[in-house]
Amino acid sequence: MKTATLPDGSAVPVMGQGTWMMAESRGSRDEEIAALRAGIDLGMTLVDTAEIYAHGRSEELVGEAIAGRRDEVFLVSKVAPHHASRTGTRRACEASLKRLGTDRLDLYLLHWPGGVPLGETVEALAALKQDGLIRNWGVSNFDTEEMEELFALPGGEDCATNQILYNLEERGPEFDLLPWMAERGVPAMAYSPVGQGGALLDHPVLHRVAQHHRASPAQVALAFLVDGDDVIAIPKAGSATHVRENAAAADLVLGLNDRHELDAAFPPPKEKRPLAVI
Ligand code: NDP
Repeated sequence: MKTATLPDGSAVPVMGQGTWMMAESRGSRDEEIAALRAGIDLGMTLVDTAEIYAHGRSEELVGEAIAGRRDEVFLVSKVAPHHASRTGTRRACEASLKRLGTDRLDLYLLHWPGGVPLGETVEALAALKQDGLIRNWGVSNFDTEEMEELFALPGGEDCATNQILYNLEERGPEFDLLPWMAERGVPAMAYSPVGQGGALLDHPVLHRVAQHHRASPAQVALAFLVDGDDVIAIPKAGSATHVRENAAAADLVLGLNDRHELDAAFPPPKEKRPLAVI
């Protein structure tokens, strides 16, 4: 699978797997674990979770899915802002590691900007890295101004990624945030890349482009995002069928005509739009 490169040189697949809304019901647990494992088999080895997803049960489910194959996986989790103090960050990280059944995270993100001074969180994340509990750290839901604030802090430029809402319906980051990050070699991680499986996937233009490639609308939505090498998409799929589609989307190449059609239906931003969040 095509890869993106983090600032420290680590290569990660451009198509990963999200896990929000997993582990919400006992009935779908086995299918979700099987879906994650199938995704890893297909090269979607970047798995994204968070301490808040299903109150920690998403991390437990991921732990079960990756048991015995931890080294194949690039594991991402997130600290909630209200835990992101000096001691709270370490406590939250240790609890996540326990639920995940591992001794290290490949990437640990501040879930969104919060009340703890950012400099304190950066110091806490740097200390976790120093002590080997995490390999890299980053942020999520940071708009351009917040990235500027982060990079002005001591050690702030060590940020490995910014995980943001980015999909065909939400192209605001293309105006300023994505270019700002690209200039600094920081890849973006696009969450809700298929619009949470909602109205986006019913759009007639997406269907037309998909038909042209004998692909699905979700595959076109994903291919649009991972066209270059500086955006990583993390679709969540609870079924092996969707997982297979999403993995194959990394190889789908859109042409100039497709791009024009998509631009007409989902216009790129002409001015700054505040970063949308879920
Ligand atoms: P997605 O855009 O990934 O949409 C998930 C939905 O789309 C599910 O209902 C899924 O169905 C469906 N789907 C997946 N693949 C296909 C396909 N090929 N064809 C049709 N439908 C499909 O939304 P999420 O909000 O889940 O975002 C992805 C991940 O990003 C999250 O799981 C989480 O890890 C992360 N995230 C991070 C946030 C942050 O603040 N940092 C906020 C929100 C998400 P099914 O499950 O039935 O396969």
